[in-house]
Amino acid sequence: SSWWQSVEPAPKDPILGVTEAFLADPSPEKVNVGVGAYRDDNGKPVVLECVREAERRIAGNLNMEYLPMGGSVKMVEETLKLAYGENSEFIKDKRIAAVQALSGTGACRLFADFQKRFRPDSQIFIPVPTWSNHHNIWRDAQVPQRTYHYYHPESKGLDFAALMDDIKNAPNGSFFLLHACAHNPTGVDPSEEQWREISHQFKAKGHFAFFDMAYQGFASGDPNRDAKSIRIFLQDGHHIGISQSYAKNMGLYGQRVGCLSVLCEDEKQAVAVKSQLQQIARPMYSNPPVHGALIVSTILGDPELKKLWLQEVKVMADRIIGMRTMLRENLEKLGSPLSWKHITDQHTAYCKQIGMFCYSGMTPEQVDRLTKEFHIYMTRNGRISMAGVTTGNVGYLANAINEVTK
Ligand code: PLP
Repeated sequence: SSWWQSVEPAPKDPILGVTEAFLADPSPEKVNVGVGAYRDDNGKPVVLECVREAERRIAGNLNMEYLPMGGSVKMVEETLKLAYGENSEFIKDKRIAAVQALSGTGACRLFADFQKRFRPDSQIFIPVPTWSNHHNIWRDAQVPQRTYHYYHPESKGLDFAALMDDIKNAPNGSFFLLHACAHNPTGVDPSEEQWREISHQFKAKGHFAFFDMAYQGFASGDPNRDAKSIRIFLQDGHHIGISQSYAKNMGLYGQRVGCLSVLCEDEKQAVAVKSQLQQIARPMYSNPPVHGALIVSTILGDPELKKLWLQEVKVMADRIIGMRTMLRENLEKLGSPLSWKHITDQHTAYCKQIGMFCYSGMTPEQVDRLTKEFHIYMTRNGRISMAGVTTGNVGYLANAINEVTK
């Protein structure tokens, strides 16, 4: 008998398990609002036109050699401009240690390992709730986790007072994981003013901010505007870390292309940090994949293609914003006794939900009923992926939500 005989099946991933169940359902009415992948108004996956054009330009023109351990220099350069700003002095001064990473997940994991290696006694503060994989990532990197308040269930907005208390009460010099924009799963982001206060308090406490930016451009439709939180921290003189992903905003999900960066004191320190990040990557995957990086550098390196990309990101963000309005209107028309204002109110400091997800406030039992009775698939925390909502299914979805919540 084999030594792995006693191995039990691993628990299902709460997000990926939803897709499995959806695929297994033969009902023609089924709706998947579980997974965070963009769909067009026919519910079909989208490949951006700028990506298709980049692929045409790449096809047959390049060899398949390894990238350097730190990945594509050109891709990383363009990626830093998106996060730190086109004319960032930190880029000019070469103060940023940055490597290509295996999308956002890989960037977070690389950072967590870096944290463990050079601050072995540190912990990471993670918001409640958060993307479930954050817990797995820091767990496997063996960094102890603490949590901080974030979501306020009654207002369905940010629990700003409790968040600020947690920042104040954390030991000086703590590590915090922050969602740069379009918080997953709640869709609740701090306002600009609140970010300023958070940054201020971080300064007073000497905390380190690690930004996970998986949805740049998806919140407002404008990548620059979505980087506001990061820019505020930079203005205030923080040395931050950033995870960037092209999964959502370029639709490159399966290409696994992203970037990890750490802002350093000076160029010398940045060179040292980069070499250490590469050394962590070397025994894990040696060097990152080439194709996605080429697509990104081809698009961002060409003004025309970059312009097309910016237009296409906005189309995606706008479609989602439109679906929020339609879902809310449909629920209100049905006379739902609950308030659905939080789905669309993006411009007030309170009750603001934005980006791909809507945190509906439904209970796990209500979600179970949606799945059993209406073939609607979503995570049990009540998170609706607005990217899966279309003009064709929004009425059906609203009706089902109304039935299970009234
Ligand atoms: N971080 C957050 C908050 C996410 O929601 C996701 C994807 O769902 C990721 C990171 C990482 O995604 P990927 O590894 O596909 O870039």
